Amino acid sequence: MAENGTGEEVMESFEVLLEKSTAIHGHVCAGQVIGVRLAMLGLENIGIDQPRGRDRKKFYVLVEIDRCATDAIQTVTGCSLGKRSLKWLDYGIMAATFVNLEDGRGVRITAREEARELADLYCPEIEDKYRRQLEAYRVMPEEELFTVQRVRVAIVPEDMPGRPLRRVQCSCCGDWIQDGREVENGAGLICRPCANGRYYEVIA
Ligand SMILES: [Zn+2]
Ligand SMILES: [Zn+2]
Repeated sequence: MAENGTGEEVMESFEVLLEKSTAIHGHVCAGQVIGVRLAMLGLENIGIDQPRGRDRKKFYVLVEIDRCATDAIQTVTGCSLGKRSLKWLDYGIMAATFVNLEDGRGVRITAREEARELADLYCPEIEDKYRRQLEAYRVMPEEELFTVQRVRVAIVPEDMPGRPLRRVQCSCCGDWIQDGREVENGAGLICRPCANGRYYEVIA
């Protein structure tokens, strides 16, 4: 957390946040640059300026991809899956939505595909394509990098941070299910894997 000299905490600069996200992610990449800028823009749009301080319980983030930029969004916002302040939707789209839980303001920001081509105009002297994108994304204006949409997000109580609202036992496999993820079938309440099929096969 940075300070502005009056003892008040302010949002850290792009460079400081990029350094932090690079340390957490393990390498600097175009995704870190995009993710840091996207998260800063998202927070600004919903009126959050101390995401890790005073404002940390006032907002919520949904990411639509599990790639490099997602780590940067997590670093800048301080949101995480474990805190339930970050939701991952497996859409494969380079976009994230930021929701202010106090006033309902929401914004969905998408990284524009066109930015890849535009990168050539900004740093033509850099030969390596990925390095060129990384450097260009630092300086490109927001409107060339991102599409911003005002959105409304219906967040259900079962998705909110805090203690689980209920726990039920699957009447089929016996696993315990939290947060209302159970499904009703004729025989009773069952877990989603029992209802929809499993991603694993038990072999022992
Ligand atoms: Zn990366
Ligand atoms: Zn089950």
